[in-house]
Amino acid sequence: IWRFWLPITNMGNFYNAMINAMAYLERIFETIDEKPAIANKPGAAQMPQVKGRVEFKNVGFAYDVEEGNKILDNISFEFGPGSTVALVGPTGAGKSTVINLLSRFYDVQEGEVLIDGINLKDVTLNSIRRQMGVMLQDTFLFSGTVMSNIKYARPEATDEEAIQAAKTVCAHDFIINLKDGYDTEINERGTRLSIGERQLISFARALLADPRILILDEATSSIDTRTELALQNGLQRLLKGRTSFIIAHRLSTIKNADCIMYIDKGSIVERGTHEELLAAKGHYYKLYNSQFSVMKAV
Ligand code: ADP
Repeated sequence: IWRFWLPITNMGNFYNAMINAMAYLERIFETIDEKPAIANKPGAAQMPQVKGRVEFKNVGFAYDVEEGNKILDNISFEFGPGSTVALVGPTGAGKSTVINLLSRFYDVQEGEVLIDGINLKDVTLNSIRRQMGVMLQDTFLFSGTVMSNIKYARPEATDEEAIQAAKTVCAHDFIINLKDGYDTEINERGTRLSIGERQLISFARALLADPRILILDEATSSIDTRTELALQNGLQRLLKGRTSFIIAHRLSTIKNADCIMYIDKGSIVERGTHEELLAAKGHYYKLYNSQFSVMKAV
């Protein structure tokens, strides 16, 4: 009954709450709209608590099945929990497609995608997605405060937990220097966050959500040196103990990977560590010399 006795001044709060609730629903629908329809198969089970083994078995995929334009052909790999995998290769090679299939934005037409030995097609979409941190370039942040963005995947987290996460991934220092610190509105006019800063906030969000599997499309834009260092350190801390697939553009990320997969025209043409692939003097070696040689001194 107390609800009916709220003083009129509280209408403002109520209004704000309504706006927030609507914004929240909108975000959910935006997220759903982005994704092509993947139907849960009848009787699909819940994905159990993920440990992080990821396997592609002879995967073949076309976005347009009728056209039969195969984007990936016979892709196979297996990585144990905690592995860091960097995907490199020319634009249009199929790197994002690998990641789209792993996060099950699409279902494969040939072969299998397995997590902990379970075929993704046999479990519900939600139970997979809940256990993955997906950080794609254009979906880093939502409008709202920095704090609400960090807590997005775990709204019940305390402010202290969110701040601790931000500290761990090296995002805290730049956040406290923003106009309103953690309360800064991200889309408010005048608050301009760089791509690197946005990515740092998404790292804090991912750490707080604590998934076993992480998927990251690294920002390509040029990033100032200070943010760049924070990103390098923050990323290494975030990756610890998680299986991660990164479309990698930074040399530091690539060098730190347990395995680099060089993808070209829908196939894995080379795989190995940075040293192994340099020694092989193949595709990666050429990429390194053409793109990263200027950075060698850094
Ligand atoms: P990369 O990430 O290596 O740049 P992508 O996986 O994005 O490569 O693209 C591989 C190929 O798939 C490209 O030829 C691209 O045009 C095509 N492609 C990517 N996304 C779609 C889509 N949603 N629908 C149809 N074709 C797509």
